[in-house]
Amino acid sequence: MNRTTHIQPNVDREVDSPAGPPITDQFGRTFNYLRIAVNEKCNLRCIYCMPEEGVPFKPKNEIMTTEEILRVVKVVSDLGVNKIRFTGGEPLLRGDIVKLVGKSSSTPGIESIHLTTNGVLLGRYAGNLKEAGLTGVNISIDTLNPEKFLQITRRDELVRAMEGLEAAKTAGIPFIKINAVALRGFNDNEIVEFVELTKDYPLTVRFIELMPFDAHQIWKTGKFFSAEHIQKELKGHFPEIKTTDGTATEHAIFQVPNYAGKVAVIPSYSRNLCGNCNRIRLTADGNIRNCLYSHNEFDLKDLMRSGGTEKEMKELILSAMWVKPIDGWMAQKTGSDSRESMTQIGG
Ligand code: SAM
Ligand code: SF4
Repeated sequence: MNRTTHIQPNVDREVDSPAGPPITDQFGRTFNYLRIAVNEKCNLRCIYCMPEEGVPFKPKNEIMTTEEILRVVKVVSDLGVNKIRFTGGEPLLRGDIVKLVGKSSSTPGIESIHLTTNGVLLGRYAGNLKEAGLTGVNISIDTLNPEKFLQITRRDELVRAMEGLEAAKTAGIPFIKINAVALRGFNDNEIVEFVELTKDYPLTVRFIELMPFDAHQIWKTGKFFSAEHIQKELKGHFPEIKTTDGTATEHAIFQVPNYAGKVAVIPSYSRNLCGNCNRIRLTADGNIRNCLYSHNEFDLKDLMRSGGTEKEMKELILSAMWVKPIDGWMAQKTGSDSRESMTQIGG
């Protein structure tokens, strides 16, 4: 991995004014969405994400503190970022998660705060998170079968994850999504059950393509199930399903007539949405990553810890994003990656 610290901005930018320039790149994209991994650790061990044992977690002092995360939120809000997502690892394992949501949601310019979680601890936190201003939660549940859940996550926690989903509904968190990584021969026979979750409640079920991010390389075992195939299956089971408008990442969104919720298919491996990318990523150890697939990182934590000013932080962020590769295919050619798991980058 190439680490770059204190790099010089490669374009002439006015970063002195409180409302700095928007974050853009050389291909004309604008970045208004920051995804922050707040934790590398997790209470599950999904087989496509991390091994059962021996995960090289960083020591606590290398993970960003509450104050550092909130400082970054303030700085990016000056640069036009209006959407934040806390992810990880498992963000609900962080004791300060309600505070992070609350303080971020009261930061001027920040319009929405989202969380991606495995849901296991959501029953405990959903009410407080909603009160703190959480706009949306993505709950990762790959199967609705307890034995298969144990097989895929190596933990017997489906009941608590489903309780987390119910707690999010009861708390009234506005946007609820279920993330299911589509795996051939594992959950491709559960598409109907997942879609039925959208019948009575306005949530979105998202089928996500498997990505080659795990050290164990489940990727090579033939479980990849493409977005194209998922859509074919969906249409096979629900011939009456209708296409509705997509977003930057949810390029294919469907709705079964008279169902309250929606179904989305995310081509996270096929990567045909990069032209619309609006995302900045911050790793749990404080590095800006301009693309999920990129191997170049820009050390914002080091800059903060060595006395960097807000102006310098803005310059680093603007410069890091300016050199974002045109798409994920180009990005993965940028050197080699020492990150073994999505938990370190923030999925
Ligand atoms: N622990 C939380 C969770 O599971 O929602 C947040 C972090 S997790 C890394 C974020 C998302 O990344 C989850 O939806 C997970 O399924 C997805 N993910 C992890 N590894 C993946 C892989 N190799 N391919 C596709 N999605 C992956
Ligand atoms: Fe944990 Fe989420 Fe990775 Fe599963 S996908 S091991 S829940 S971080």
